[in-house]
Amino acid sequence: MDPKPDHLQLMERALKELWGYPDFRPHQRESIQAILEGRDSLTVLPTGGGKSLCYQLPAAITAGTALVVSPLISLMADQVQALNLLGIPAACLNSAQRGEEVRQAKAMLFQGRLKLLYVSPERLSLDRFLEELGQVSLSFIAIDEAHCISQWGHDFRPEYAQLGAVRKRFPKVSVHGFTATAPPEVRSEIAERLELREPRVFIGDYCRANLIYKVIQRDRLKEQILRVVKAFSDQDSGIVYCLTRKETERVAEFLQDQGRRALPYHAGMDAETRKRHQELFSQEKVHIMAATVAFGMGIDQSNVRFVIHAGMPRTLSHYQQEAGRAGRDGLPAQCVLIYGGNDILFWKRIIEEEGVLSEQRNRQLRQIIDYAALPRCRHKTLVEHFGQPFEKPNCGACDVCLGEIETLAEARTYSRMILSAALKLKQAFGGAHLAQVLAGSRDQKVLQNGHDKLSVYGLLKQYAQNQIQDWTNQLESQGYLKRASGNYPTLGLTQAGYWLLRPDKYGKTERDLPVMLVETRKRQTKAAPSGADAGAPYDGELFEKLRAARAELAAKLGVPAFVVFGDRSLQDMARRRPVNERDFLDVFGVGAAKLQKFGKVMMGVIREHEESVEEA
Ligand code: ADP
Ligand code: ZN
Repeated sequence: MDPKPDHLQLMERALKELWGYPDFRPHQRESIQAILEGRDSLTVLPTGGGKSLCYQLPAAITAGTALVVSPLISLMADQVQALNLLGIPAACLNSAQRGEEVRQAKAMLFQGRLKLLYVSPERLSLDRFLEELGQVSLSFIAIDEAHCISQWGHDFRPEYAQLGAVRKRFPKVSVHGFTATAPPEVRSEIAERLELREPRVFIGDYCRANLIYKVIQRDRLKEQILRVVKAFSDQDSGIVYCLTRKETERVAEFLQDQGRRALPYHAGMDAETRKRHQELFSQEKVHIMAATVAFGMGIDQSNVRFVIHAGMPRTLSHYQQEAGRAGRDGLPAQCVLIYGGNDILFWKRIIEEEGVLSEQRNRQLRQIIDYAALPRCRHKTLVEHFGQPFEKPNCGACDVCLGEIETLAEARTYSRMILSAALKLKQAFGGAHLAQVLAGSRDQKVLQNGHDKLSVYGLLKQYAQNQIQDWTNQLESQGYLKRASGNYPTLGLTQAGYWLLRPDKYGKTERDLPVMLVETRKRQTKAAPSGADAGAPYDGELFEKLRAARAELAAKLGVPAFVVFGDRSLQDMARRRPVNERDFLDVFGVGAAKLQKFGKVMMGVIREHEESVEEA
C-alpha cells in the first residue's frame, strides 16, 4: 500500500460516518496509520481499549480484503454481524459453518467483495486454503489475541504456532498483532514468532480508570455475591466467575431464587445449551451468568457492569483479562474478587499435578496472592504487572484507595498475638475460643480451663470477640493458620505461621511474609470513579424504554443487544432525545447505517415517550 497524505482525513471521516464515534481512543489513530502505511505492528491495548476498530477501520477504507485471524468462533460471528450492520462487507470461515455459508463467503471473497475475512488459526494451516488465498488481493493480515502464540504467556494455543508460516507465504502483506494481555517478555516473544519486521509497537494505558476493584475475604460466599449484585439494577449485566462447574450451577440457582435472571455456563454443558445461554445473555434476556472461565473470549458485550470472581483466578494476567470484561463501554463498572485460603491450596495442587514450568507458575501464583492479600492499590498492582509505571498516589477507584478496608498498621503485632495464642492453647481450640481468650472473656469454658492465667489473656481486649475471630479467618486465608478438618476445627500454625512468629529464627524477612488484617466493619462507598465517562444526566425512564426497544430489535435480527446499540448510545439518546435524522446522527455510536436501520424505531420510542410525559 502506498502511504497517502489524506489518511488522517479518511480515517476521521470513516470513524464518524461509519461508526458514529466522535473521537479515536488512545493509540487507535497510530495503530491504524501503521496499517495504512503497510508497517508491521503490535498493538497492546487493555480489554475494552478498542482493538477491533484498529483493524476494521483501515480494512474498510482500503482496497482488497483484510485477513483477520481470531481464535473464537462466536467472537468472529459477533464481529461480522456488527460490521454488516455498519454496512461493511465482512464474512468468516470456520468449522461451525454449513456448506452453503462457506460457499457464499468464498464467492464473495473471490469476487473481491469482502473488506474483512475472519478465519480461525486452524484454517490458516491448511495448504489448500493458503493456495486459495493466493488468488485474493489481501490488504493486510491482523492477528487477534496474538498472545496465544506465546508459550510463556498464559493462553498458549498450538494452532497459533503455525502463524509464522503465513508471513512467509505472503511476504509483501503487512502483519499486525493485537492483544490485551502481554507483559513485556511476552510482547517480544509475539513479535519474534509472528516474524514481525521492525514492528511499530503501541502499548495502551493499562489503567482502566472506569473500573472499581475490590477484594473481599470469603466467608459466606452466596451472601457476599448477593451483596455485590444488589448494588446494581436487575437489568444490569454481570458475570460471576466460579472455580468449579458445580459452583456455577449453585450460584445461578441461588441468584434465581433471589429473583435475578441468572444462568450457569461451563464447558461440561452440551454445546446447544451453552450457545443458548450465551445468546440469552448477549440479548439481555438473562442478566447474570455464573460461569467458569469457559465463558470467556467469546463475549464482547460492552455493557457488563460487574464481574465477580467467587474464587481466585489462575494468574494476575487471567484476572486482568477476566475482570476487564466489565465496563468496556467506558462507563463505571465493578470488579470484585472474593477469595479464601482454600483457593491457594486449590491452585497449588493443580500446579503440582501439572508439574510443568512450575517455578514460573509458582511466581505467578504469588503475584495473584499478593494482589488479593496486600493492602496495596489494586490499579497500581495491575498496571505495574504490565510493566507500566503508575504514579497516582490514590486511584480513587479501588477498595484500598477508597479507604473501604481499614488495614491495621498493627497487623504484624496482632497476628503474632493470635499465632502465639494458638500455640499457648496447644493448637487444640477453635477460633471462637481463641478470640474469647484474647478478648479477655469471663466465659466459663475459658475460666474452667484456666485460660485466664495465660500470658496472652486479654491482649486484644479493646476489640470485640467477633472482630478477633474474623482475624483468625484472615490469617487462615493468608496461609498462616490452618483449621483441622472434622468435627473439631481447631486452629494450628502452618509452616508460614511459625515463620511469621519468629522470622529471624528462620532467616525470613517481612517481605517474605506479607500480612494484612482488615477491620471488618466496613464503610460503604458508592462513588463513581473519576475516570469514568459518566456524562451528563439522562432520562432514566426513557433509557429503560429504549433498552426494551433494543432488546426487541436484537431478538428480531438474532444478534446480541450490544451489536445494535451500546449502553452509552442509549444514554446519549435518552439525553439528547433526537426526533429527526440530523439530531439522531449526533448520538454517540450512530452512523449512517444505524440511522437507516434503527433510527425510525428508536425515534418512535422517543416521540411516544415525550408525548406521554406531556400528557402526564
Ligand atoms: P477490545 O480492545 O477489548 O477488543 P473492542 O474492540 O471490543 O475492545 O471495543 C470495545 C468497545 O469500544 C466496543 O463497543 C467498540 O465499539 C467501542 N469503541 C472502539 N473504539 C471506539 C471509539 N473510538 N470511540 C467510542 N467507542 C469505541
Ligand atoms: Zn487504588
